[in-house]
Amino acid sequence: MIKPDAVSAGHTGAIIKIIEEAGFGIHAMRKLQLSRKRAGDFYAVHSERPFYQDLCQYMSSGPIVAMVLTKDNAVEDFRTLIGATDPAQAAPGTIRQLFAKSIEANAIHGSDSPENAEIESNFFFSGMDRY
Ligand code: ADP
Ligand code: MG
Repeated sequence: MIKPDAVSAGHTGAIIKIIEEAGFGIHAMRKLQLSRKRAGDFYAVHSERPFYQDLCQYMSSGPIVAMVLTKDNAVEDFRTLIGATDPAQAAPGTIRQLFAKSIEANAIHGSDSPENAEIESNFFFSGMDRY
């Protein structure tokens, strides 16, 4: 998911270019704005963290671009491509190092396991959209 800060800054195309050049296929793609409730559902795992309310506010503040990507070892390789959560710690050339504004507004989300990739794909896309 390309997050609201990167979409509003006009980085959607540049980020998709990096993703494709890294060998990922785009299986499904959709631009939409999350309600605060739906942002809260997406990040429910973080509901006890101190930054949760801010995160829900930020994630519903503007459009996002959701994608289902394909590649061998996609989850791990995509986490490497996006870089550390805090852009100050993100490796050079990673999407977060290049585009993130802060630890919260960090440009992009990547699923952290194949199981969560399946859950998060289903969050944004129905079976009809995906095939
Ligand atoms: P990641 O997105 O790298 O998997 P987490 O799952 O830990 O990171 O956190 C989810 C999202 O919550 C982050 O991408 C970021 O937008 C936000 N976040 C994480 N940690 C903080 C923090 N300490 N302060 C503010 N926002 C945070
Ligand atoms: Mg995470």
